[in-house]
Amino acid sequence: MKITDKFLILMMLSSPLLTSCHRGGKRRFVRRTAFIMGTVINVDVPAESAWAADTAIEAFRLVDSLMSPLKDSSDLSRINGNAGRWVRVSPLTAECIRYALQIGELSGGAFDITAGALVHLWHFDTEKGWVEPSKSSIDSASKFVDFRKIEVNDDSVRIGRGQRIDLGGIAKGYAIDLAVERLKRLGIRNALIDAGGDIYALGNGPHGKWRIGIRDPFNRGNIMGILALSDKSVCTSGDYERFIKVNGVRYSHIFDPRTGWPVRGVVSVTVIGPISTMSDGLATAVFVLGPKKGLKLINSLDGYETMIVTESDTLFSPGFRNYLVSGEF
Ligand code: AMP
Ligand code: MG
Repeated sequence: MKITDKFLILMMLSSPLLTSCHRGGKRRFVRRTAFIMGTVINVDVPAESAWAADTAIEAFRLVDSLMSPLKDSSDLSRINGNAGRWVRVSPLTAECIRYALQIGELSGGAFDITAGALVHLWHFDTEKGWVEPSKSSIDSASKFVDFRKIEVNDDSVRIGRGQRIDLGGIAKGYAIDLAVERLKRLGIRNALIDAGGDIYALGNGPHGKWRIGIRDPFNRGNIMGILALSDKSVCTSGDYERFIKVNGVRYSHIFDPRTGWPVRGVVSVTVIGPISTMSDGLATAVFVLGPKKGLKLINSLDGYETMIVTESDTLFSPGFRNYLVSGEF
């Protein structure tokens, strides 16, 4: 079915209260909420393990302290401030950058963290609001976009002179994986982590597999479909609230490294898969690649599925529907 002019985002089918309990099933869950990485983080854990939720929240604080462009002391700011020189970073930052380089290769450069030069030029990495740069400054910033110039050696990173990296397309997914790993280490087998619509469903929820609603933001009360997930991440790129308009044309906050301009035409990309870091980065990559090449990329990867919404169509990889328990698709 075609969904025209509709933007989909994911939301949990549970109470929006800051701390909520799910009752009525075999398991009872409690929620911890925090605002980190510019988004609302919800962690639902079994009531008897409520203490464990803080560990998951701390994982987000840690990743934010390492990878935020807004913090001078972050690994990211130190890497950018020392372009051309080796910088010692946390093993976590090095690992996240390795993932980013892998997705860069897989996507043929559609995903490129050195698009940070463009993100910065358009002021997308500040809290002040965006600016439209001149064509010549876009052209000169684009010259520095090339993830293949990044080197990672153990826990040291070196980017090329003039380059600037941005981990906004992958850091949330990485933080989710870290949070899940920490929960598992504490013996938690069932939990839901929701970082502003990027989600990991660990084990089961109150009534079996976790249920994740696909919401139509033009009609926020309307749930367009429901996914049933267990031990899977689901990440979405493209979000109704994050776009810019230049001369009446609507652009996303995701850049096409080939043009230096934000992508237009794609509305939303959702990726389901086993590793959140990958799902997050891949969703951004597919957003840039567009439906045809995006589907090809996801179909080439084991365990990953996607739903791509454009301005005129909705496309699915073959296995995506296996996760849909209901929907108008
Ligand atoms: P997401 O919401 O996960 O798709 O991430 C979007 C963010 O990724 C943007 O706000 C930028 O910080 C960053 N970004 C933009 N374009 C790219 C790109 N082509 N490759 C990698 N990261 C990007
Ligand atoms: Mg992403």
